[in-house]
Amino acid sequence: MAVAIRKPLRGGIHPSEQKHLTADKPIVKPPPPTTVTIPLWQHTGACCKPLVSKGDAVRLGQKIGEAPAFVSAPVHSSVSGTVVAVEPRLDPVGRMVTAVVIEADAQDALADGISPRGTLDSLSPPDIREIIHEAGIVGLGGASFPTRVKLSPPADKPIDSYILNGCECEPYLTGDHRLMLERAADAVLGLCLLMKAAGVEKGYVAVEANKPDAVETLLPLARETGITVVVLPTRYPQGSEKHLIKAVLGREVPSGGLPMDVGTLVSNVGTAVAVADAVYRGMPLVERVVTVTGRPVREPSNLLLRLGTSFATALELAGGLTEPAGRVVMGGPMTGVAQFSLEVPVVKGTSGILVLGEDESPPLASTPCIRCGRCVESCPMRLVPLYYDACARVGNWTRARELGVIDCIECGSCAWGCPARRPLVHSIRVAKSEIRNLAARS
Ligand code: SF4
Ligand code: SF4
Repeated sequence: MAVAIRKPLRGGIHPSEQKHLTADKPIVKPPPPTTVTIPLWQHTGACCKPLVSKGDAVRLGQKIGEAPAFVSAPVHSSVSGTVVAVEPRLDPVGRMVTAVVIEADAQDALADGISPRGTLDSLSPPDIREIIHEAGIVGLGGASFPTRVKLSPPADKPIDSYILNGCECEPYLTGDHRLMLERAADAVLGLCLLMKAAGVEKGYVAVEANKPDAVETLLPLARETGITVVVLPTRYPQGSEKHLIKAVLGREVPSGGLPMDVGTLVSNVGTAVAVADAVYRGMPLVERVVTVTGRPVREPSNLLLRLGTSFATALELAGGLTEPAGRVVMGGPMTGVAQFSLEVPVVKGTSGILVLGEDESPPLASTPCIRCGRCVESCPMRLVPLYYDACARVGNWTRARELGVIDCIECGSCAWGCPARRPLVHSIRVAKSEIRNLAARS
């Protein structure tokens, strides 16, 4: 069944989508890179402990990092070859993280034990949760939260609904759109596995109205499985969890709360496909779809890249650049992270590599706030970004907390239209971090 939700998101923005660069480009799987650099910390939670040392031979899919805590996710080799270093390396989030550097042998020799693990009918919920954990699966929408943890809510938080997030509202990115076209059956199967693992009966796939081909592809599969496809108006940030839940189920996640507080879990389309791969092929998370795009990129592409592939290699695979880059970003232009080096690796949270031209990356210099109110109008959380910026300038974290800064979802809608180019999201991140530090000390 398809349900059209007509009520648009309150606030939010309509940035130029720029999805035409790659929306029609099928996912391409290049040969394995010659070297991969695989950070042992690619997820929310504790950093993994290395299981290999320099000189060790490794195989594709072999576990090379062990999760030391419940909130963590193991890490696997994305190639077969030889470990040449286990040492700190820069990651695309800007941290120095212990990484396993592997010279690939181009053989893709599979690790022992990689084989189908069962079926939707044969596996129990605990079985599915364990397979998901052992496969190192985290949310592939960007947050990289370990999926097994999401599937294990406390007993006092009963869950009745699971939403598969196919909105992909961030400009430029098209990997999820392509997955819904090319691997729709696996996306729906993955959702069914996630629903069984969480003991949930009601499943939804939410897609923005700008992807009618994806809706058409999903509908017959949804009819077979009893899942509802929900078509949402195209508006950024429709895909944020809180707005998605409100639009699909009419439920309001409380201030400071989580989807589980309103009986709901949300996963990204890529995550569901990874779950289907882990169960039906036995393959852990060793690769992901990355949209390599932007005007300077010669052949903007959707590439299925091995984790650990350098951004430089990814850009070469997309034909290189036709003009100097003004900025390279991991993710999209709204929530992405600017990069200082092209040697950083693709990680589980790398949804895109976006290159902006020099004229598309104006200097970050800002001028004083003119109190025009645009940031307030565009905030989908009904917050007051200009005041958080003012609080951050004088270090008044108590006032920022009183004004609700903790509810900010860091979507960037406020900064997008600010005529003074105030660093609103940066100020908000600093304020949230200081408030957390204060709470930890008290
Ligand atoms: S949009 Fe920018 S200039 Fe306008 S009120 Fe907000 S911070 Fe100030
Ligand atoms: S204050 Fe936060 S939630 Fe509101 S528009 Fe800015 S980044 Fe988005």
